Amino acid sequence: MNMMAFEYGEHMVLVDCGLMFPDAELLGVDVVVPDLTYLRENQDRLRAILLTHGHEDHIGALPYVLDEVAAPVYGTPFTLALARPKLSEHGLADSVELREMRPGQPFEVGPFRVEFIHLTHSIIESGALALTTPLGTILHTGDFKFDPTPMDQHVSDLHTLAHYGRQGVLALFSDSTNVERPGLTPSERAVRQRFAQILGEAKGRALISCFATSIHRLQIITDLAQEFRRRLCFVGRSMYQNSEIAMQMGRLNVPPGLLVPPQELKRLPPHELAVVLTGSQGEPMSALARVAVDSHRWLAVEPGDEVVISARVIPGNENAIFRMVDHLYRRGARVHYQDGSQPPVHVSGHGSTEELKLMLNLVRPKYFVPIHGEYRQLYRHLELAKQLAAVSEETILLESGDVLEFDERGARKSGRVPVGRVCIDVGTLDEVEEIILKERRHISEDGIVIPILAINEHTGQLETQPEIVSRGFVPLDEAHELVESAREVILRTIEKSNLEEVGDWGVIKEKIRTALRRHFDQETGKRPMILPVILEV
Ligand SMILES: [Zn+2]
Ligand SMILES: [Zn+2]
Repeated sequence: MNMMAFEYGEHMVLVDCGLMFPDAELLGVDVVVPDLTYLRENQDRLRAILLTHGHEDHIGALPYVLDEVAAPVYGTPFTLALARPKLSEHGLADSVELREMRPGQPFEVGPFRVEFIHLTHSIIESGALALTTPLGTILHTGDFKFDPTPMDQHVSDLHTLAHYGRQGVLALFSDSTNVERPGLTPSERAVRQRFAQILGEAKGRALISCFATSIHRLQIITDLAQEFRRRLCFVGRSMYQNSEIAMQMGRLNVPPGLLVPPQELKRLPPHELAVVLTGSQGEPMSALARVAVDSHRWLAVEPGDEVVISARVIPGNENAIFRMVDHLYRRGARVHYQDGSQPPVHVSGHGSTEELKLMLNLVRPKYFVPIHGEYRQLYRHLELAKQLAAVSEETILLESGDVLEFDERGARKSGRVPVGRVCIDVGTLDEVEEIILKERRHISEDGIVIPILAINEHTGQLETQPEIVSRGFVPLDEAHELVESAREVILRTIEKSNLEEVGDWGVIKEKIRTALRRHFDQETGKRPMILPVILEV
């Protein structure tokens, strides 16, 4: 969740506004967004939201943030084009002002002079931000690698980075994602060779799954589809939407007649098809996940088909991805995924150590702050910087919530602001609180038991035998003894309670819950959630 506030006096700009997709631990949570307490409390100072690029972990939280605070949003045309539908979905399209920013066209926001500097990444129109204040320039790299041969020929603007370096940069905040990888990250173009082999040799369909924002990759596949005389199809909502946006903006060039709509896929011979689809992380409802279990409306795989998963296996998604891969093999397809084989099916969008060093040497900041990474990666980026002569004053390790303050005397950590994660259930758009997650975890582990009691409100006596219903606990149909003993426990609990207690349903429910919890724990070693229901008769 990338989101950083830069403040000068009474003015604040926000760099990026990202979300995170939860791991399996967060049951029923669809997205995780940053805690907005600090932003909410200081919204009168917020002047702008600046976006470095259009990846979800940089723009995904925009609708949630703009639902609470108001500010114009600056981004490159493509980044804004990806943000626009998100705002529309949340009914914010009319109320939020989107302003285009372009490389080489600096503009002012309060005391900040903002310049967007183009850098290469796995998405197009990505870059760094130079924020110049009366105290000096802050350079925030966004996500980057130095790709010498990007598909759109638009290489990183090293000259402008060097220009700022020569002028003097107060602080550099730089991407740490790939600090553990030596050398240089391969160009986006590196996947072309492998894709060409696959599209050239496949006896049946060629299915390629990648992130829908990887426009470079969509272009490579488009070019190869043309070369190998395969019709091209984009399948999956975000794949379709993003390819449309990129084509309309002239950022994805598809020759006329090459595209085929998904409804027609089944009518064409398999060896004449190249399909680009969503689902590289094995997301359950995604196009590729459906194809893998043969439940996709327009697309199926069979022997002779080749499937490429052109993405990193994001930690936490291994099970879902490899289950999907197994299904695809079972249906007779051959699957290519990132397994270290060469040429690669995927390359990273983040620079390796030599690129990180080059960034430091070009910018030569007074202060250096590694960002975008786990603690170990930030730490190693710090160590990397210390080996160079690039940082003249200090390297500083910040964690989420730390405040770093600059003045004429220097820089220092000065306190913390509240940070954390807010879990959102997209179905209802409600925040899912920690307590609810705890309850869901509890139910998922030991199940739920519902004792149902009919109590006569006048006599305080049970009208009938208590019923016991359960889910995910033990099969009660086969556990007659357990059911009987649980009924006994309920009866005894009521007998031992006085009329007032039985009349107060809050009290009697709690007593039954406590007694049953102890009983089930002793008998089964499980601690199901117990929810007594009392019927008034
Ligand atoms: Zn990122
Ligand atoms: Zn990114």
